Amino acid sequence: MAEFVGAVDQGTTSTRFMIFDHSGNEVGRHQLEHEQILPQAGWVEHNPVEIWERTSAVIQTGLNKTGLSASDLVALGITNQRETAVVWNRRTGRPLYNAIVWQDTRTDRIATALDKDGRGDVIRQKAGLPPATYFSGGKIQWILENVDGARELAESGDAIFGNTDTWLIWQLTGGVNGGVHVTDPTNASRTMLMNLETLDWDDELLGFFDIPRSMLPEIKPSSCPGGYGTTLTNGPFGGEVLITGDLGDQQTATVGQVCFAPGEAKNTYGTGNFMLLNTGTELVRSKAGLLTTVGYKFGDEPVVYCLEGSIAVTGSAIQWLRDQLGIISGASESETLARQVEDNGGVYFVPAFSGLFAPYWRSDARGAIVGLSRYNTNAHLARAALEAICYQSRDVAEAMEKDSGVHLEVLKVDGGVTANELCMQIQADVLGVPVSRPVVAETTALGAAYAAGLAVGFWKNTDELRTNWNESKQWTPEWSEDQRDAGYAQWKKAVTRTLDWVD
Ligand code: ADP
Repeated sequence: MAEFVGAVDQGTTSTRFMIFDHSGNEVGRHQLEHEQILPQAGWVEHNPVEIWERTSAVIQTGLNKTGLSASDLVALGITNQRETAVVWNRRTGRPLYNAIVWQDTRTDRIATALDKDGRGDVIRQKAGLPPATYFSGGKIQWILENVDGARELAESGDAIFGNTDTWLIWQLTGGVNGGVHVTDPTNASRTMLMNLETLDWDDELLGFFDIPRSMLPEIKPSSCPGGYGTTLTNGPFGGEVLITGDLGDQQTATVGQVCFAPGEAKNTYGTGNFMLLNTGTELVRSKAGLLTTVGYKFGDEPVVYCLEGSIAVTGSAIQWLRDQLGIISGASESETLARQVEDNGGVYFVPAFSGLFAPYWRSDARGAIVGLSRYNTNAHLARAALEAICYQSRDVAEAMEKDSGVHLEVLKVDGGVTANELCMQIQADVLGVPVSRPVVAETTALGAAYAAGLAVGFWKNTDELRTNWNESKQWTPEWSEDQRDAGYAQWKKAVTRTLDWVD
């Protein structure tokens, strides 16, 4: 009898396949990284074929490791790096170009132009997003304008678009032989092309980017009782599994953290940081530099919206210390190095490598390290990098409070960086509220499993899911109020310097 749910988490740096039981506990997993293709400054690409191959491999190995098979899975959920755009030929199955990743800033001019003639305000109003390189719309436009033959293939209906959820569901359900072309409202809400109220593609928005509607996937609920389609017996599952869950990774983390009531929030610390606050069925428009986005849509229940603060560079600043500066040999060493000093020694690091996202939205900003003196060492820089993760999160938390009036009592956290105990302590100090990490830290994959399992009745409702959430550790603030205020004022000054540089 089938008693598990499978989840594919197609992330920015890697793809994992995980299997969960009814209590939300992990039964098995396998994970593989894929190449980060950096053709020039500001460009970030992935090879979609490699992503599909890695996905197949993690599914097969994950099943082999656990001794489970397709028939042991009641359903499959997919979650994915959002915004990253794939355009492929539905007849040949071949991508027209590499996937253009969410961090890629090549569409800077497309994004800036939107605010010169009023289109930007229409996008803010209809899609809930400020025009930015971050979202998919400009990336699709770039492919149509710059790849030979792409426009013709799009006009004839052969070139189709998807984020990596859509790409993988299409492959898993048959590819060129009848693959299903679908997405869900959470992913669609990150394109600048979907109307947040109708939950459908919007012709005026499509016109802004000159994108034919026929390129776009059908939008179905994030938890879909009938399923989007079934995996193939000759595919990586070796059998039929109904795919019933599809959400962007930050939205699944919100679901995995059981933030089902208005006012509940989580912060995920990965390549970047993403804080999402559930605002219920009410669509709250941000005045403070946040995004309005779809949280989830379960079956035919009303859609739930979120306010989101997206930060482009947090964990990837730690990768930069490792790969570009070589001052640590692994991410966890950032903690041992930073612990060698008591404080940041006056150093502030604003890692605006992909511009600054929330709440600043400055695609042109670039990073800065300020306050250096001869006394400073690598340890101060490591500490400043950890503090930057926490101060950027404070910027977002302040914006959230302004927009929603909700004051966080405790911050639920997850993601790779939360393994860093010092960073979590600094986060509590910088915010002045406790920080709480759950036992199951893989909330992204867990949320995908929850969405899929809810659709087939494996879990009855969200109340049942709540009982699965347990805390593993909590950090409480230790800094004095004065220390907190002084540090934050210095951080704000450092951000100003970053922006002065490009002004
Ligand atoms: P994603 O889903 O975005 O690929 P993950 O949640 O897997 O990200 O987290 C990976 C990120 O976490 C990397 O950027 C890495 O630098 C960072 N990271 C992992 N462990 C630590 C640590 N102990 N301290 C600081 N950063 C860490």
